[in-house]
Amino acid sequence: MDCIFCDLKNKKMPAQIIAKNKDFFAIFDINPKAQKHILIISNRHAENFHDYFSKNPENFKSFIEITNSLIEKYSLSESDAGYKIICNSGEKAGQSVNHFHAHLLSGKIGNWQV
Ligand code: AMP
Ligand code: ZN
Repeated sequence: MDCIFCDLKNKKMPAQIIAKNKDFFAIFDINPKAQKHILIISNRHAENFHDYFSKNPENFKSFIEITNSLIEKYSLSESDAGYKIICNSGEKAGQSVNHFHAHLLSGKIGNWQV
């Protein structure tokens, strides 16, 4: 199965990991839609939010932990711009990589369907 995010996870493609825990890793988006655009990606391949968390609801805790650690690392709570967390699920919702990930965005967002 061809999957860009599995390739990043398995180091088949180079990635600058900015945070990780036992279930997730985070990188900067290669094509940022905001001044700060971070992707929080599951280690385990799953198609989307529902596919991932319906099988591993207990992992929501580590999802929150890595997300909070990134909010703290980049001082997003103190940022004037605030921040958003978005999980596009399904092609019509704007999902282009079918491996579960969340977007953590801060700063002006361009023309992006949400
Ligand atoms: P989505 O459209 O919600 O599925 O989000 C996928 C995101 O992955 C897009 O914002 C892409 O810019 C980003 N992306 C795709 N390939 C890479 C990569 N190799 N490294 C970092 N971000 C990527
Ligand atoms: Zn994958």
